[in-house]
Amino acid sequence: MAKFPGIKGIFLDENPLTEQSSKGVSGIGIPDCGLKKSDLRKDGSAYIDSKYIRKNPPALPEVSEPAVVRHFTRLSSWNMCVDTVFYPLGSCTMKYNPKINEKIASLENIKNLHPLTPANLIQPVLKIVDEFNNILCGLTGLAEFSFAPQAGAAGEFAGLKVIKKYFELKGENRKTILVPDSSHGTNPASSVLAGFTPAEIKTGKAGTLDAEELKKFISKDVAGIMITNPNTFGVFEKDIKKIAEIMHKNGSFVYMDGANFNAFLGNVKVSDMGIDLIQLNLHKTFSTPHGGGGPGSGALGVVESLREFLPVPYVKKTAGSNIADINAGKKTSSVDKNSDKKFRGANFVYELSDDRKNSIGKMTPFLCNFAVLIRAYAYLLSLGRDNIGSVSEIAVLNANYVKKKLGKILPGSDPFEEGTCMHECVFSDKSIEESGISTVELAKLLIDYGFHPPTVYFPKNIHGAIMIEPTETESVRTLDNFIKAVRQIKFKTKKSKAVKSPQKTKVGRVNEVLANKQPIFKY
Ligand SMILES: *Cc1c(COP(=O)(O)O)cnc(C)c1O
Repeated sequence: MAKFPGIKGIFLDENPLTEQSSKGVSGIGIPDCGLKKSDLRKDGSAYIDSKYIRKNPPALPEVSEPAVVRHFTRLSSWNMCVDTVFYPLGSCTMKYNPKINEKIASLENIKNLHPLTPANLIQPVLKIVDEFNNILCGLTGLAEFSFAPQAGAAGEFAGLKVIKKYFELKGENRKTILVPDSSHGTNPASSVLAGFTPAEIKTGKAGTLDAEELKKFISKDVAGIMITNPNTFGVFEKDIKKIAEIMHKNGSFVYMDGANFNAFLGNVKVSDMGIDLIQLNLHKTFSTPHGGGGPGSGALGVVESLREFLPVPYVKKTAGSNIADINAGKKTSSVDKNSDKKFRGANFVYELSDDRKNSIGKMTPFLCNFAVLIRAYAYLLSLGRDNIGSVSEIAVLNANYVKKKLGKILPGSDPFEEGTCMHECVFSDKSIEESGISTVELAKLLIDYGFHPPTVYFPKNIHGAIMIEPTETESVRTLDNFIKAVRQIKFKTKKSKAVKSPQKTKVGRVNEVLANKQPIFKY
């Protein structure tokens, strides 16, 4: 048996469905509807207004059901995905998604929800949103989450708009957002989109932001700092509390890019670090399938003083009233989160409320990407309060295991060799270059071994970077296999093979420049 899942390589070839079409073939048999030719008017319109009747049949491929199933199943096998291979794409958290989440999201009552259903008919759904919000508040120590942003970057944008609105209302025109060079690339981009000017701060040798360095950038023009923690080197910002103190003293906010929250989940409350705002990528940490541009959810959490600025609509929990009162537009008192006890056993009602005068406004057509939220909710409930912390413990353990073991195979390549990492580790190309293999060749060779490549050439300030995020869902056996593959590549692979890889995939090495300039979408 092959030691590596991809070492043999197989793909089944496939033609476009249109080329498999044969006239008259159908995937389903439809019973005769009993309508006779003589029932039709000359123009073919018996029951349907003639203006809706096609002049020509649609140009659909005529194929059988098995042909359709095999077609799409074969196509799906051309791709590498979390259900088939180890997918250590650093910064992206491509972890296995438990199927229970899919099952819950596919329940009839959930998947068939119409987004325009009035609030009084979807009380249990709004209750789920409210409860999920409470769980996230419990995990972070923040006051409220908005589920309006539908991606991590959208969460960043919304958070910065909240900061902007806060200063506008105060009559201050602060224009600068500080962004360390260890931040995710979306951070400076979101700052610009939200109307700020990003100012880059260089990180120190240990890959972290130094509080003394930060002080040089402080002025009354600084609205806040966007800090990715753990940062894009996979390193924990150990000065984070000091950084927060410096910012708060200046009346500025601390925004944390929390896309990498699987490094902390269940073990650290970000409020204890002095964080004012955070976005959590539900499609990463909270185990929703992602990639290919969506769907996602960049839930934005804020401290109490910023709640009033969050997007509308939001789910408002009210007590001591009933649905009839709400429908009649009667005023209800909103429930103070902390006084829940007082209302225990009371009749709660959930409204979709626009009642937020200082809100940054509406971000999405409806409340949220509910299908993502329900998967995240199912994920957390299936783990349970006692097990949530083990997610981040194992994620960090796995990353350090790879860091140490690969560090021996790739000597001198770990820029942060001294310390430990959080959920991901990063290597330069120093050691593999000595064997005559480049980073891109290592990535392509790994595909032939049956592993998705790690993130490469990012972060930019590490030469030929190879960034590996094993995630908590991988076993030590998989990690050992991956490490073994890297060792074989480094010590046993000829350059002539490296330049041609991957060779076992449907599409081999492409000219990447040409593929970007002249993409061909037809296969
Ligand atoms: C993935 C990621 C983002 C962007 O999230 P999207 O959902 O792709 O917009 C932002 N910051 C970090 C650190 C990330 O890993």
